[in-house]
Amino acid sequence: MQNTIFALATGNQTAALSVIRVSGEGSESILKKLTLKNTPTERLLTLRSFYFPNSNKKLIDKCLVVWMPAPRSYTGEDCIEIYSHGGDAVFQGFFSALTSFPNVRYAEQGEFSKRAIINGKTDLVKAEAVNDLINALTEKQREIAINQFNSGLSIPIMKWRRAIIKCMSLIEANIDFSDESDTPDSVNITQELSTLREQVKGAIKNKDYYELVNKGIKVVFKGKPNAGKSSIFNSILKKQKAIVSNTPGTTRDVIEGQINFKGYVIVFYDTAGITKTEDNIEREGIRRTRKLLKEADIILNITEDENYLPKSYSKKEWLVLNKIDKSKKIKKNLDSKAILVSAKTGEGLKDILLKIHKEIIKKTKRFNDPKNIILNLRQAKELEEAELSLTKALEEKSEEIISEHLRQANRSLERIIGNIDVEDVLGNIFSKFCIGK
Ligand code: GDP
Repeated sequence: MQNTIFALATGNQTAALSVIRVSGEGSESILKKLTLKNTPTERLLTLRSFYFPNSNKKLIDKCLVVWMPAPRSYTGEDCIEIYSHGGDAVFQGFFSALTSFPNVRYAEQGEFSKRAIINGKTDLVKAEAVNDLINALTEKQREIAINQFNSGLSIPIMKWRRAIIKCMSLIEANIDFSDESDTPDSVNITQELSTLREQVKGAIKNKDYYELVNKGIKVVFKGKPNAGKSSIFNSILKKQKAIVSNTPGTTRDVIEGQINFKGYVIVFYDTAGITKTEDNIEREGIRRTRKLLKEADIILNITEDENYLPKSYSKKEWLVLNKIDKSKKIKKNLDSKAILVSAKTGEGLKDILLKIHKEIIKKTKRFNDPKNIILNLRQAKELEEAELSLTKALEEKSEEIISEHLRQANRSLERIIGNIDVEDVLGNIFSKFCIGK
């Protein structure tokens, strides 16, 4: 018999209510023993008194509960949800009551979702989407997650699987009946597989979008020491995280800070200025800076010198002239080329944010079409495997080997939705889930 699991599905702070979720074969008998009553009508909120087991009616809480017998529950197993009063002591009461039953234990991270997938109640794409939804901090993150949950990637994956299986069966039929005179010598599946591969390829391109929305756009500061990088960073983040000082080179490491601007995450990196130095710690800072500059979506090249004009800079590099509060002269040289700001007065800082926002909109423009397939890095990696197998199948002559490549492609697709290798794939993913999900 599989363990019955339970967990607090809501946060563990003091609150009006908490939801305790219980799932597994033992749920119904636990409910009866804790309430000393018959099982309530299924899927209907019912008021019950809960007592410690074998305690001569020592009350834990009086609250609503819902009984959801298998298979019509989130996990597909017998489930109960207890809407107890919030707070730690109430939950501790339920915890000790529930763990006093045999085969009952506290759930592992994501274990409810894992059981839901194993029982065919949901697929992995949807479970990941639910997790993203719970963790969403911005409007855009919420939007992607709910769309993925609602239809998202699972639909094209199923369609592609069907196409692969159709090609496989055509080949198998051809192999099986190749001795018989009335079957064609070769089955032409090339067209079908090429179309499929193009669709898969197109979807892979979209992985950047998910990353951009969920991890944020990367904005890296660069510039000479004392240009005011840390000051701008601090002003934007409105937190005194970096060290602001007159001594050059005091920001020895990379400091990261995030903001939510108009529904998008912007991640700022305040870096060590790139200077010649003998100091090992500073050198390490500079090495990290170079790496970050490579990975950056936008580089803010910050200067305090109004005559400064870099000979060349990349498209993703924007010039920012800081300390404009110090001089009221019109900055002829830089006026049109730089964003003029003052970390001290805050002037111009909003312009930086608005320009970054414009850039995000530009980068994400093509995703406004709801037909676009959005996928995370794990899903993209599996799709890349599928694409590779499809390419190999297209290059191959032997039908047996084509069949094998198609099987591999199919396996990659199945891993995306969690149909196979469930334990392997899930272990890693669910470690990032919250307990009650
Ligand atoms: P970083 O080395 O580039 O990170 O520069 P800091 O942010 O540490 O700033 C160096 C010095 O310039 C500090 O004394 C700041 O107070 C000063 N500073 C920074 N921004 C401004 C500004 O907009 N106006 C003025 N007047 N001083 C600034």
